[in-house]
Amino acid sequence: MSVSSGLLAALRDTVGAAHVRTDPDVVAANVVDWTGRFRGATPAVVRPGTVDEVATVLRLCNAERTAVVPQGGNTGLVGGAVPLHGELVLDVRRLDAIGPVDARTGQVTAQAGATLARLQRQARDAGWQYGIDLGARDVATVGGMVATNAGGVHVLRYGPTRRQLVGIEAVLADGRVIRRLDGLEKDNSGFDLAGLLCGSEGTLAVVTAARLRLHAPTRSRVVALCAFDDVDAALDSVGVLRRELDCVNAIELFFEKGLELVCDRLGLARPFAASHAAYVLVEAAANTDPTESLGRAVDLCVDVADVAVATDEAAARALWRYREGHPEVINLLGAPLKLDVSLPADRLGEFIHTVPGCIAAIAPDASVWMFGHAADGNVHVNVTGVPADDERVTEAVFEFVASLHGSISAEHGIGSAKRRYLHLVRSAVEIETYRAIKRALDPFGILNPHVLLPDERSP
Ligand SMILES: Cc1cc2nc3c(=O)[nH]c(=O)nc-3n(C[C@H](O)[C@H](O)[C@H](O)COP(=O)(O)OP(=O)(O)OC[C@H]3O[C@@H](n4cnc5c(N)ncnc54)[C@H](O)[C@@H]3O)c2cc1C
Repeated sequence: MSVSSGLLAALRDTVGAAHVRTDPDVVAANVVDWTGRFRGATPAVVRPGTVDEVATVLRLCNAERTAVVPQGGNTGLVGGAVPLHGELVLDVRRLDAIGPVDARTGQVTAQAGATLARLQRQARDAGWQYGIDLGARDVATVGGMVATNAGGVHVLRYGPTRRQLVGIEAVLADGRVIRRLDGLEKDNSGFDLAGLLCGSEGTLAVVTAARLRLHAPTRSRVVALCAFDDVDAALDSVGVLRRELDCVNAIELFFEKGLELVCDRLGLARPFAASHAAYVLVEAAANTDPTESLGRAVDLCVDVADVAVATDEAAARALWRYREGHPEVINLLGAPLKLDVSLPADRLGEFIHTVPGCIAAIAPDASVWMFGHAADGNVHVNVTGVPADDERVTEAVFEFVASLHGSISAEHGIGSAKRRYLHLVRSAVEIETYRAIKRALDPFGILNPHVLLPDERSP
């Protein structure tokens, strides 16, 4: 899509010529996603520095019916932040201020472009803790995390981003601003627009700031990596750990094949002498040392073949590396197909046992890598060795997930990658309601028009 020279000139007047980037070399990183699977092109990347500038940019684009893709850290994994149809990119990362932490409420206002790592640091420095953590923390932004309702490794304890959100500032497609950042914990005066925009993936408004809830810090953490020779025993341990540990932060799952790849590619020593079928990483955190409670809980798990425990920070980080290294090493094998699904707890085992065979029947040369957030029933199915345009694997896995009453997007969102499958997990009435909301907030459809909602022709 091209944009008129008049619009480009008006955008330069608004944000300054240096912040309207058109040189393909300069915008190269804005048009391809983190995996390298989704690659597009854009006439310009616009980088506003204030909320007023965001408002003017959107007003101008709306007047010319120019499609816009909002972009934060561009770590999204479903092709939602890249201009796959030649859209203009609205890069919000210059809006990156983080306000002071309110000592009475433990709330903070962060602008959309602030990274998760900075927010976490600022919370810690003020004696609090932010409830979200994920592997892309150094790059992912507050705006992107609100737009995707990001989850991460601590959902079990603190919930996803929506649960951290007290208020929002956002710019509608026509440039009008919604601002509700007063931090009221109780305010039942109408629809929850912050909740609506959270998870809307840039289709309803551009988030410019969020009022976020912080939590009491936990000063002592301990991490254990448990090995199992039986996948079902590993899944059963999740319930035991949840029941027995009142300070559990995370319960993560991965398998031998992934561990081997991580150790090989990252040059890490294996955690155990022998190989095992499945690994459960559990993190407990409290103000007093949780090592004993964690030890007792692990002792109650059945058929644990081996355990490694980390009681200091360096050792804890080293155990986490086995789990967090998965996305980056899989990426080294070539752009993976990433399917982020969740299952009801009682169907998780069936899914894990069945899905590799189901994929092999369609794509015999493909490799399947699974890991995820076990306590949330969330498995990341990564597939390498399938062409980017081959939808058969996605279709088969999603249909299987839907038949088990799971979700085709546990935490990454629908993006452009999964929109054609939304009907598998949302009814026609729900999709029509989504469309009505979209029409009400963005009547000309300029905000991420190729994301989340299926084409009108689709079911
Ligand atoms: C190594 C790695 C690990 C990850 N782990 C997790 C995980 O554990 N849990 C998880 O949930 N995700 C995870 N992700 C995915 C990703 O980090 C999250 O989706 C994150 O929230 C995206 O933030 P971002 O700033 O990079 O957003 P982007 O990728 O820039 O954008 C994501 C979506 O939000 C929209 N958007 C961005 N900014 C705005 C804004 N200001 N206003 C409106 N819309 C906007 C975009 O249009 C796009 O649709 C991981 C990614 C990587 C690379």
